[in-house]
Formats: sequence, C-alpha cells, structure tokens
Amino acid sequence: MKCLMCKNGVTAKGKATVTLTRGGSVVVIKEVPAQVCRNCGEYYLDEGTAETVYRQADDAVKRGAEVEVFRYRFDPSIKNILRPSVVAEKKPSYRKTR
Ligand SMILES: [Zn+2]
Repeated sequence: MKCLMCKNGVTAKGKATVTLTRGGSVVVIKEVPAQVCRNCGEYYLDEGTAETVYRQADDAVKRGAEVEVFRYRFDPSIKNILRPSVVAEKKPSYRKTR
C-alpha cells in the first residue's frame, strides 16, 4: 500500500518496534509484524495486531511498569482483520513515540 504519512513511499511486510506511552508508563514492543514504509519508516498494523499490542501494553500499565520492553506475542484469541491502521489514531489514550 502507499504510505499515508509521506505519500511517497510504498510499504512492505516487515517488523516494527512499537513504542507507546501512557501516563508515566513507556511500553516498547519489539518485532511487531507490520507494513513498513520503505521511504520514511512509518509502520501500519492490521487491526488484530494493533489490538494485541494494546492489550499487552494495558497489562504492563496495569502492573505499574515505568518502562517495559518485550517482544510481540501473537494472541490467537484476537481475530486478524486485515485493514491497515495508524496506531495513534486507534487509541487516543496512548501516544506513539519514535
Ligand atoms: Zn512513508
């Protein structure tokens, strides 16, 4: 797909490091399967992946983690809906940082 951020690049299948902050917590999730723009590096997650990422971030926030870094774990209970979406737009309670 064409990148929505730079409108120049084309995305390709790859892995992204997703960093989310909420309140005082920073959650870094590595090796998240994503569509990554070859031009600017912006990434897009499908809805199932985004939901999984947020659930895992929620767990860390609930535990009161200041900084938590972990690897993406596939959650088979979440249906994979193949619609790319920008993470930051999905859950305004999180801020996406780079
Ligand atoms: Zn781009």
